Amino acid sequence: MSPGMAFAIRVGAAAAVFAAMALWEWLAPRRRLAVGRRPRWPGNLGVWLIDAAAVKLLGPVTVVGAALVAAEKGWGLFPSIDLPYWAAVLFGVIALDLTIYLQHVVFHHVPWLWRLHRMHHADLDIDVTTGVRFHPVEIVLSILIKIVAVVVAGVPAFGVVIFEVLLNVTSLFNHGNVALPPRLERLARWIVVTPQMHQVHHSIERAETDSNFGFNLPWWDRLFGTYRAKPSAGEQGMTIGLPIFRDVAELAIVRLLTQPFRREH
Ligand SMILES: [Zn+2]
Ligand SMILES: [Zn+2]
Repeated sequence: MSPGMAFAIRVGAAAAVFAAMALWEWLAPRRRLAVGRRPRWPGNLGVWLIDAAAVKLLGPVTVVGAALVAAEKGWGLFPSIDLPYWAAVLFGVIALDLTIYLQHVVFHHVPWLWRLHRMHHADLDIDVTTGVRFHPVEIVLSILIKIVAVVVAGVPAFGVVIFEVLLNVTSLFNHGNVALPPRLERLARWIVVTPQMHQVHHSIERAETDSNFGFNLPWWDRLFGTYRAKPSAGEQGMTIGLPIFRDVAELAIVRLLTQPFRREH
């Protein structure tokens, strides 16, 4: 599979899931939004476009491209232990998910990386558009980290495509302002990060911000002790965002891009 085709699959899947989630939120929202869509969507969606442009600017430097080169040269752990192809795809997806979990923890605890990542947390509500609100520098760093993981593990290109599509789709899903029925949600939490689970990660309370780091698989939080079932103020009563950047003016695209470089407001 060529990097161009992989990109087209990702864009198509993301557009379809975005539309489905936006419709679900509109029909059955979980929470009343504090500031609503109008002040937030242009900035959040604008950042999504800038991120896509940043990825394109990297040209041939793609995670799929790295997987193709690694496969050709026989690099990585999986080829060296003669892992069957299907197992390399499966373990590759799981290894990439663990990498993204660890990356997320590190971005919370290293001050200059937190400056980049906190833009994601400064959204005053969470909905499907928060799922694409990441600073372009964070996106580029994340690609480089994934390239290292793919080369070290020897993940096949097909595994990379599955992971990238999953990450896009689950990020749109678990930021959605939607609710699964409670009984289903309790079960789903063992398989995938649900919107109710990820909502805790967007709490203004720092101890809650530093919990539920997972995007796809919920197991890492349980394994490493960063899982929190509920926000202390309750799902409806909790405040979303950070103690800083609470002015609605901070939702504008230029402000979003400059947040990492500003001390506070
Ligand atoms: Zn975070
Ligand atoms: Zn989030």
